[in-house]
Amino acid sequence: MNYIITNGYLLLEDGDGFRAVKEDLYVMDGKIAAIGRAPETEETFTRIDARDRLVMPGLINMHTHVYMTGMRNYADDVPFGEWLFDRVMPVEDTLTVEAAYWCNLLGMIEMIRTGTTAFVDMHMFHEQSCLAAEKAGLRGYIGRGLVGGSLYEAGNRRFPEALEEMEKHRSDTLDFILSPHAIYSCSVDLMKEVVRESDARGLLRQTHLSEGMTEVENCLKEHGKTPVALLDDIGFLSSRTILAHCVQMQDDDIARLARSGATVVTNPASNAKLRNGFAPVLEMQAAGVNICLGTDGAASNNTLNLFREMGLFTMIHKGISRDSTAAPAAFTLKTCTSNAARALGRAGELGVIAEGAAADLIFLDLNAVSLFPNNNIVSSLCYSANGSEVTDTMVNGRFLMRDRTLLTIDEAEVFAHVRAFQQKFLQISL
Ligand SMILES: [Zn+2]
Repeated sequence: MNYIITNGYLLLEDGDGFRAVKEDLYVMDGKIAAIGRAPETEETFTRIDARDRLVMPGLINMHTHVYMTGMRNYADDVPFGEWLFDRVMPVEDTLTVEAAYWCNLLGMIEMIRTGTTAFVDMHMFHEQSCLAAEKAGLRGYIGRGLVGGSLYEAGNRRFPEALEEMEKHRSDTLDFILSPHAIYSCSVDLMKEVVRESDARGLLRQTHLSEGMTEVENCLKEHGKTPVALLDDIGFLSSRTILAHCVQMQDDDIARLARSGATVVTNPASNAKLRNGFAPVLEMQAAGVNICLGTDGAASNNTLNLFREMGLFTMIHKGISRDSTAAPAAFTLKTCTSNAARALGRAGELGVIAEGAAADLIFLDLNAVSLFPNNNIVSSLCYSANGSEVTDTMVNGRFLMRDRTLLTIDEAEVFAHVRAFQQKFLQISL
């Protein structure tokens, strides 16, 4: 369906900042066809009144594990080892694909309701992320978490299954990313194979890197170099590489990242909650590294709400740098809009309101008390919004939520299934 969105304020990127303009926006065939003036076409447009609404690019969550949303608030305030080995992993080991599907949809409800239109996922369940994203209508970059000694070793079904998934599910809104889990769960040979396969197939690659000190210490012991140097030396780092965390930077790690053109996705809530500290994003940004924002999974955050993450991101970096001008609102907003598009190789197509860009849009209620009065709209989004202001979410020109009503997912059905998961896998009845 084609739309003309009228009476709203459009948030346009403008140099280092943003500006809001009151213009009509034309959406045709999933894309932004024109701004301000009608496109030259015989097509008809359905009118959408966006009075008192800010119309802005949907947010892009650059690192998450959506299937973990069923484990929200399940393992908190415990030591990291207990969190991972005694709580999270036993659930993951027994989780069925059916339960994973419903937990994925739960996370997608949260994303749609809090204004996220695209996400980069690392999952461990055959197809369930794809099927849920197709149902929800969200834009997904799906990556099967790869582990072990080789992509091709007998018994490692994950890589062939990941390739099958790509063949079957690639679409306008679903794309794929090769996702070796981390240097401590994958051999160097597997990492080299990922470089070769992703280059040959023109795919992005992502991994967790330098998240905790133990990882760095073990890597120094085993390889005599930092995790960043290890991956740099085998050609893993490139402009099509997305690195989650990069908290523990040492030696010339930042210079190597900057030289390679790789993107760093910082996950401040997860890094704080799992007591890993904070990535030196200001230093990385100053060196020219593309910085994006992610929530990580809901077992370590415990939400997929990027508005909360933006607030945390800017506050944390102001606080730890003792510089109130650090991580300003416009930069913070770009970490989950245009910087994210750049990392995905889709600058100008995603994360912006511009002619020819995908119509991935969200509307926010400008009369919501958290945004009112609108003295500075970019500050509002970064410092005072909490995600509840989102009234409408559109991906690829299709409304997934209209006036806060979900259009693609039956929320009650998802809740009922997740409740069954909670009782069966977490032994919690509430
Ligand atoms: Zn992660």
